Amino acid sequence: MSAALRAYLPSWIVPVVPEGRVLTDSAIVVEGVRIRALVNRSQLEIDYPGIERIELPGHALMPGLINMHTHSALVLMRGLADDRPLMQWLHEYIWPAEKKVMGPDYVRFGSRLAMAEMLRGGTTCFNDNYFFPDVTAEAAVATGMRAFVGMPVIAFPTAWADTEDEYFRRGLAVHQRFVDHPLIGISFVPHAPYSVSDGAFRRIRTLSEELDITVHLHLLEAPGEIETSRTEYGMHPLDRLQSLELLGPRLLAVHMTQLQDADIARLAREGVHVIHCPDSNMKLASGICPVAALDRAGVNVSVGTDSAASNNNLDLLAEVRQAALLAKVASGDPEAVPAARALSMATIHGARALGMEHEIGSLEPGKQADFITIDLDCIETRPLHDVVSQLVYATPRCQVTNVWVRGRQLLKNRELITLDEAELRASSLPWQQKIHDAVRKLEVHHVE
Ligand SMILES: [Zn+2]
Repeated sequence: MSAALRAYLPSWIVPVVPEGRVLTDSAIVVEGVRIRALVNRSQLEIDYPGIERIELPGHALMPGLINMHTHSALVLMRGLADDRPLMQWLHEYIWPAEKKVMGPDYVRFGSRLAMAEMLRGGTTCFNDNYFFPDVTAEAAVATGMRAFVGMPVIAFPTAWADTEDEYFRRGLAVHQRFVDHPLIGISFVPHAPYSVSDGAFRRIRTLSEELDITVHLHLLEAPGEIETSRTEYGMHPLDRLQSLELLGPRLLAVHMTQLQDADIARLAREGVHVIHCPDSNMKLASGICPVAALDRAGVNVSVGTDSAASNNNLDLLAEVRQAALLAKVASGDPEAVPAARALSMATIHGARALGMEHEIGSLEPGKQADFITIDLDCIETRPLHDVVSQLVYATPRCQVTNVWVRGRQLLKNRELITLDEAELRASSLPWQQKIHDAVRKLEVHHVE
């Protein structure tokens, strides 16, 4: 028996592919977990007589946003240590605070809180980089959200693993457990070139090919990284990764704020994907990813929020706007990253980097039914000359009304269906206290 058919009829459909197109008087027909068709309203009556119709007047319907880089559970550290340089922020605040609270309970609650925020902002899929990825994957499955979780590798002991071997052993067990799950993808998440050994990178290279998975890596985030690499390895981080045979289409390079023209050509040649996190880069004064030049060179650029500890939100719609604006001011070119391209970066470009471009990232027949609706009939988005411009430059995330993943509704008229908002708000208080106490102890320790 075939799955039930349903037609959604918003005022506008933004399929993202082809880029910039807006359909009016149209419906999207969903059958079970997949998109069956996009049809004209008049054709809907003919092709699907008696189909269940969901009318969404004043709404735009578009693919779910894909947050290409985050550390979801770090949402619990939001606002904990702002206005500091990256290395001080990491070494003196985030890593020591994590050490005090890290464990399955912290990751479970943080992941659920992060997913609630992301779903309310129209994100349907997130590419995570954090410890206890099995716990995040379980939370995503329970919520019905799509997640790529990572097998962490870092050159020092954490609550997740003590030795390099243990990082690989535990990570591979997570891969084995979730590899066939329809909502979960797995990647390697080596932390960064300055915190991962050559030996670990070699194992990652071999295993990522064997398992056919991506390598999601912080790369060239801040200026000091190049100097550190020259001192420790006698070469630029990109040369080191090339010598380790890691520069290629499996590599998802996050940040990339320290690029020369020759580097951009090399990334394009090697097919490396770049993940741009403008808010985090600006907040930590890390630098500016040259998105306009990367885009011109044909590099696939997608967008991520990074964690709420360095952003301080998981608002991908805001990140898209920031990406479009920053590209213009950084390149001196107001035509750089136009609105339609910015929307592609938050959807189909992310899907492409994850190897999911045939499944998600646009509204096309046969793809999975991951989509959102946005109410444009609000004061903030009137008048409405151009739907795509409005979505990128004028729409706040609170206008996201409904979210579906694999055809299942997870947000309905701004109410979460699979997560309990009141419970999440209440349970965040004991975590706030626990983290506050952990940091206070650290500060006392500093004074001593
Ligand atoms: Zn990050």
